[in-house]
Amino acid sequence: MAEQLAINGGPKAVQSDPGDIFQWPIITEEDEQACLEVLRRGAMSGTDVTKQFEQEYAEWHGVDYALGCSSGTAALQSAMWACGVRAGDEIIAPSLTYWASALPVFSLQGTVVFAEVDPNTLCLDPNDIEHRITDRTKAIVPVHYCGHPADMDPIMEIAEKHNLKVIEDVSHAHGALYKGRLVGTIGHVGCFSVMSGKSLAVGEGGMLITNDRKIWEYAIAWGHYGRTKATQWTGDLDQAVITEPELKPFVGLPWGGYKYRMHQLSSAVGRVQLKHYRSRMEEIQKAMNYFWDQLEGVPGLKAHRPPKDSDTTMGGWYAARGLYVEEELDGLPIEKFCAAVREEGVSCSPGINDPLHLHPLLNDADIYGHGKPTRIANSDRDLRQPEGSLPVTESMPRRCYSIPWFKHYRPEIIDEYALAYRKVAENADQIK
Ligand SMILES: *Cc1c(COP(=O)(O)O)cnc(C)c1O
Repeated sequence: MAEQLAINGGPKAVQSDPGDIFQWPIITEEDEQACLEVLRRGAMSGTDVTKQFEQEYAEWHGVDYALGCSSGTAALQSAMWACGVRAGDEIIAPSLTYWASALPVFSLQGTVVFAEVDPNTLCLDPNDIEHRITDRTKAIVPVHYCGHPADMDPIMEIAEKHNLKVIEDVSHAHGALYKGRLVGTIGHVGCFSVMSGKSLAVGEGGMLITNDRKIWEYAIAWGHYGRTKATQWTGDLDQAVITEPELKPFVGLPWGGYKYRMHQLSSAVGRVQLKHYRSRMEEIQKAMNYFWDQLEGVPGLKAHRPPKDSDTTMGGWYAARGLYVEEELDGLPIEKFCAAVREEGVSCSPGINDPLHLHPLLNDADIYGHGKPTRIANSDRDLRQPEGSLPVTESMPRRCYSIPWFKHYRPEIIDEYALAYRKVAENADQIK
């Protein structure tokens, strides 16, 4: 039975007040008290609260080491250096990601080679990695994109075969499972943004986790000078963490010349948010899976989630997306699809991050004054990737759209949002 779309004067699918179903992060008096405690104690700088946050983060993941950083970007750059990326070296990363998965490599005098993503997971395609490895490749950076775990088993196999490090970018997928294992614990090091937009929302901050003491020490040496030894200010001998012979002569100053300490107001909020994260995340999972269950079998719409009843999960569903199969909707352009969904009362937009490899910064910018583009300044070949070189990645802006990010399981509200998408897809022939 044909329903009239809102763009053609029909009733909007979304009629109810959504209340606080989208509100995030959830801040209570507990967060406020934790901040006040830090403020009143005069402990905004320092590391005592951060160290507690690190310990709890490490315990959650069952890893030996965690390092709180000022941002996810800082954690990623530190991890790249700690994994041995130096002048002229290369990392392999997806082009479909937030820039911080790749761009920090420039400041290490290295560069990035982009690999394709899988059109169903939106994560690094394991089949497109190996032929891009050169003798300069040092690390692979899989991103668990929009909450979906990357296919880590084959990636780890390739890394092992070629003696590469794997840096997981977990900024979209806090708490997601890959075959029963928490993402961030599978590679050699896991890096998380915990800025306020992410599913584990702390403020500005980043976290690095690893079981490799060497990686942890190198990350500390890179941007945490105060923790490399007992400082003249604190006299705290517990801070003498550096045991690596290469690092030892240089303790007390940061190798990178960066200061990446986490603000302790972030650490304080982080401890409270983390305490409640798993139960809140479970409710998000229940709500988001319910949303997709309502759209099962609708033409043109495909869920971006792992197969049901598998032990792979979407964590907090950050930046949740749906996949668009325009062939099933008579070639309806995604912009028109999204515009019709918006008329039904849902903010829906096409695409996601623009592919990095097509951005001028990756092709033309001479950031450091080498007299040639930074992307190739330290390379013996032109590894830039022009339009057409990564067709799956380049198609994704037309192949996915945003969906609502529900924080609470309230079926009667979620039904209305699901109806908006279903109604538009099933009546796509009404759209001119
Ligand atoms: C947000 C984000 C980062 C960077 O984190 P910041 O805390 O903003 O520096 C890195 N990678 C991905 C995939 C992100 O979404």
